[in-house]
Amino acid sequence: MVKIRTSIPSDLAAEVLFASETTCCVCGERGKTLQIHHIDENPNNNTFENLSVLCLECHNKTQIKGGFGRILNTPLVIKYRDEWLKRVKLRRNLADEAAVKIQVGKETLSEQVETVIEMPIKHTELKEPLLKYINSLPYFIAALLRQAQPKWDTGVTATMVQVNYDCIDSLKGILVALASYYSQKQFDNQNPQEYFSDVIASRFQWHRAILEPYGPGGTIVNVICSGSVLEDTEHMIEDMVRALAGHDNEFNWENWLKRWRGEKI
Ligand SMILES: [Zn+2]
Repeated sequence: MVKIRTSIPSDLAAEVLFASETTCCVCGERGKTLQIHHIDENPNNNTFENLSVLCLECHNKTQIKGGFGRILNTPLVIKYRDEWLKRVKLRRNLADEAAVKIQVGKETLSEQVETVIEMPIKHTELKEPLLKYINSLPYFIAALLRQAQPKWDTGVTATMVQVNYDCIDSLKGILVALASYYSQKQFDNQNPQEYFSDVIASRFQWHRAILEPYGPGGTIVNVICSGSVLEDTEHMIEDMVRALAGHDNEFNWENWLKRWRGEKI
């Protein structure tokens, strides 16, 4: 779904992109045009360890010499890459835990996953935990936005972008949790983490593309772009909730939507 030109085998490219959250490991700005860079400069050395995701600007820095050598030399790329992969993993775990914790009172992701696997697929038996979970979501987003507000209020671009990224990751955890009520075939046979990573990365690319008609437009683009993707992610959750429960007599969709959007009931 995310477009990237590469000669690397597609399975490996997908693995590298997913591990990096389809994001440049040096600048961490989302939605940019990306390249998968061979760290040792050998285009035939296609191993996970030898690959890093870079945006075009950061990739240029691996080629341009300045001072005593390349601005972005090999050890530095490896350092950035390793730190970024660690961070993505950590953030995913945190987002999953947060989203799942509110689901049927389970404490950890692994416990939850086991429950889902054991669960009979009969719709009626899935219904109750699903409705409970869905009804808890307005509290979750209210708490999330409350936490984020002071950071938005700073007006500092980097802080605002970071909190938007964090919110998007947390909401992605909800999408993944909701996906457990679907059959896996529903999402191109991808695991829901990968699937939603892909969808969200392509939303970043779309918003950046339309915001930068004449090329890179400065750091304010990151604020607007991440804000728009945050809205998209909220809408995706609305779509999924409506699809899963909107037609259920025991569920009041209009009321839920107002609570979710923080509107007066
Ligand atoms: Zn970059």
